[in-house]
Amino acid sequence: MASETAQSSGLPTAPGAWLGVLGGGQLGRMFCQAAQALGYRVAVLDPAESSPAGMVADRHVRAAYDDPQALDLLAGLCAAVTTEFENVPADSLRRLAAHCRTAPSGDAVAVAQDRIAEKAYLQASGVPVAAHAAIRQAADLDACDAALFPGILKTARLGYDGKGQVRVASRKQAVQAHAQLGGVACVLEALQPLDYEISVVVVRGLDGRTVSYPPSRNAHQDGILALSVVDGSVPAGVADQARRHALRVADHLDYHGVLCVEFFVLRDGGVIANEMAPRPHNSGHYTQDGCLVSQFEQQARVMAGLPLGLTETLCPTAMLNVLGDLWFDAQGGQREPNWAGVLAVPGTRLHLYAKTQARPGRKMGHINVVGATAPELLKRVARVRAVLGLPHVG
Ligand code: ATP
Ligand code: MG
Repeated sequence: MASETAQSSGLPTAPGAWLGVLGGGQLGRMFCQAAQALGYRVAVLDPAESSPAGMVADRHVRAAYDDPQALDLLAGLCAAVTTEFENVPADSLRRLAAHCRTAPSGDAVAVAQDRIAEKAYLQASGVPVAAHAAIRQAADLDACDAALFPGILKTARLGYDGKGQVRVASRKQAVQAHAQLGGVACVLEALQPLDYEISVVVVRGLDGRTVSYPPSRNAHQDGILALSVVDGSVPAGVADQARRHALRVADHLDYHGVLCVEFFVLRDGGVIANEMAPRPHNSGHYTQDGCLVSQFEQQARVMAGLPLGLTETLCPTAMLNVLGDLWFDAQGGQREPNWAGVLAVPGTRLHLYAKTQARPGRKMGHINVVGATAPELLKRVARVRAVLGLPHVG
């Protein structure tokens, strides 16, 4: 089969070859940097004139994600192509796959683009999810189980950072919320008694071999990830379950690449999957400094058909997101965050995405923190937060 040849021929791909990525955001940027460190050249397809990944890539193909000529150019240039976000058209990946190795596949990405398909896929993989109903039209809300209230109505497509979702106490509120969301296809999920949230990044190679990173414990603020911590505080039983679940999803999807699965840990100790991302994930940024091989290097290794790297943490690690809010003082005046103060805290590393405009809520960078012990790590995280004037979270 032609596609099989494109997927497996010439493995491993030697450094010096080109790897491609769809999307010019920070995830693409960090992928470029990791692939370049291995000696690959990188091409980014992104429509914007300037983008975090476009400015570090060896080549920026400036075109829409569904531009057939641009896709063919990329497929001709690159030994393998990946994506940095799940909302690229799945058909673009399918087109690429006819001519070059594509990881992940368009089909795998299509599942993660649609919460209805995603929930069904998680369940089919044998992974528990919250009780839910697919709401394809308003009438589905009349028919759904009363046990789903109180719940959360989430748009099936294009939600992120808590956007496109509304908490609903009753059927009546759900009908209003559905109209407010534009009447689009949604998932109604029963509100879960959360104890805390974790996520697992797994990597699955072209040969089906897998590795998984230790779960990070995630705290959100205003719907946006604020802090991920990997300090051994997730009980081993919970961590093992989450890792097993995430690997099962990757196997069931016959997935190639880096996949993140978010989980809810319930007050009764149960572990249920929330959603997945077919790419490196914000909660996996800790792997850049807490592990020997980062999630971005793994992405490049999968594409090149190289062996996967070690995933265990070298020491307790945390990741703090740096949002655009930090560039504004209480009066709304512009300022530069105190980076020197941050870097004066031992064990810190600053990762900025070179975005030219700071806006509240915009992800501008992150800070990784390591410590020899969990208490040392948490003390350092608190010091960094104090330097930046951030309130305590988690
Ligand atoms: P992100 O892009 O940050 O992953 P998202 O917009 O895709 O967010 P979800 O991850 O589904 O949306 O939900 C955002 C947050 O809302 C979760 O991290 C969790 O804190 C809360 N939440 C979502 N679903 C439920 C639920 N069924 N019960 C309780 N809390 C929930
Ligand atoms: Mg989420």
